[in-house]
Amino acid sequence: MKHSAKKELLMGNEAIALGLVENGCAMATSYPGTPASEILSSVVGYQRRHKIGMHTQWAINEKVAFEIAYAGSMTGLRTAVSMKQVGLNVAADSLMSAAYLGTVGGFVVISADDPGPHSSQTEQDSRMMAMMAKIPVLDPGSPAEAKEMVSLAYALSEAFRTPVMLRPTTRVCHSRQDVLTGKLLVSNALNRKAAFKKDSTRWAATPKFRYQLHLELEEKLSQIAAHKETEPIFHNPGTHSKQAVVSSGVASAYTIDILKRLNLWESVAFFQVRQPFPLHTRFMKSLLSTYDRILVIEETTGVIEMQLADRNRIQGKLNGAVTRVGELLPEIIEKQVAKFAGVTAISPTLTPAPGRPPTLCAGCPHRASFFAIKKAAPRGIYTSDIGCYTLGLNLKAVDTVLCMGAAISQAAGFYHAYQNQEKRPDIIATIGDSTFFHAGVPALIDAVNQNVRFVLVILDNRTTAMTGSQPTPATGKSATGENLVPVDMETLVKGCGIRSCEVGEPYDTKAFVKLLKKAVDFSRKQGPAVVIARHPCILDAARTGHSVERIAVEITDDCDGCGFCRQHFECPALIHNAHTGRTFIDPLVCNECGVCLNVCPKGAIQKKKTEQG
Ligand code: SF4
Ligand code: SF4
Repeated sequence: MKHSAKKELLMGNEAIALGLVENGCAMATSYPGTPASEILSSVVGYQRRHKIGMHTQWAINEKVAFEIAYAGSMTGLRTAVSMKQVGLNVAADSLMSAAYLGTVGGFVVISADDPGPHSSQTEQDSRMMAMMAKIPVLDPGSPAEAKEMVSLAYALSEAFRTPVMLRPTTRVCHSRQDVLTGKLLVSNALNRKAAFKKDSTRWAATPKFRYQLHLELEEKLSQIAAHKETEPIFHNPGTHSKQAVVSSGVASAYTIDILKRLNLWESVAFFQVRQPFPLHTRFMKSLLSTYDRILVIEETTGVIEMQLADRNRIQGKLNGAVTRVGELLPEIIEKQVAKFAGVTAISPTLTPAPGRPPTLCAGCPHRASFFAIKKAAPRGIYTSDIGCYTLGLNLKAVDTVLCMGAAISQAAGFYHAYQNQEKRPDIIATIGDSTFFHAGVPALIDAVNQNVRFVLVILDNRTTAMTGSQPTPATGKSATGENLVPVDMETLVKGCGIRSCEVGEPYDTKAFVKLLKKAVDFSRKQGPAVVIARHPCILDAARTGHSVERIAVEITDDCDGCGFCRQHFECPALIHNAHTGRTFIDPLVCNECGVCLNVCPKGAIQKKKTEQG
């Protein structure tokens, strides 16, 4: 098939996906997490469109996703795993070891960072993880560059037999740019067939061999630090200055514009670092021998800066010249560059528009579950987890959120802490279905083993809602929509040793509160109990066309505007009317779930009367 290159307007994650399929990636795995989620779904899109015989998979968690793709690389195929930065923590054990054992086929680990952080627990810098694992990391500044870097990553991975990390950030993942398309290089065209060569001294290396592998890894790193193809780019070699700015990632794209806007393009040398670790030895030497003053601008941690060890000449995060926290927005970089060059910043300081606090959707089944939890255990300790249900915070039904799966282990921690006190609070943990499969199961087994007296409410909305409705192991669907073997949640829970496991409908508030009270009672006297709150995500039901019963509601004149419903139920469709002093229901927002019928203590929320009465 003849291919003519053309340009396509692509989102960063789509560009990365295209880079993967164009470079013959034969296996791509992932666990969804913003800002990385669209990478795998876009690979699936190309796979379907071009009928590519590759394996794509939403795995149960990042560690599993990593290990599947890594095994593929061990057979000589090109593979990739994608995740968000906190997901890399889950896969950290596998990453550290894979760096020692090395690869056969190219293996790209895509870890998307979230400076800001817009939708993450931390602003951690995946480049630090690459540094700790001792693998090279590439830092794209734009969608087009991200796609090019996939190609570079595969070449680097195969040249040095190492996993290579690609670290896009939110702005690269979610911005759009014209990207040059190339030829799809399916695995067969690369003449690749899975062929695993047994070598237990490498693939199952004992500690003695691991020492040897570490020596080899150090040798690889020093060669990678001298590799010409990934050397920093000197963007304005015409400058004859003693001042230089060094940058990477999306900050480098902003810095180019800023230097031009401030008329500094001719007078301040600018270097874009594409591979922040290991930093090129020749570059480090020439930078330090040529320039008297150097400003390093990078998100999020000073990875480049730490490797440029001359503290007298380097300005950056370590001496406070560059902010250490939050996203490096263009206006922030402009101020820092202007100060460094001794000129005045020209862009006005923008005051951010006032935002609305995030809230669960109108009609979200989690809101109903949280309302019931507070009724069943009003003075309880509520541990929770990562997902849209974290917004149960607004309903005061979430007291703790640490990381994936921690709702259950933290519940255990609270139980042990209060164990010897006369009055022990009820402990209710909430976790989403996908998160339960991801990291909740081992914690539940531990809790059963220790006979932790708590109630676990699994908020089962039949999808991974927060990241765009990817399937869970219970959905029974693959990334490409084919049928898989669904995992039965109740059987799994009972298999963990739970003796009290019931499924309830959170929309049926009265029955659900009763079910929860029964579970709380069981947990006080006998041991851990699980309640599965099952109702599909309201957005997913609309997307998949599931028929749902609609209950139109209205607020009667009995409403005295006390605000109980807005404070304790917090449905965004319930609005305060400043004129009447009462609450009304915004028909444009209301999803007609009918749950609020049980919320108003004065019975002022009623089923809407039809014309027939
Ligand atoms: S609907 Fe009921 S709870 Fe809400 S403000 Fe009116 S009286 Fe209060
Ligand atoms: S029916 Fe009530 S709870 Fe449901 S979306 Fe409408 S206002 Fe909110």
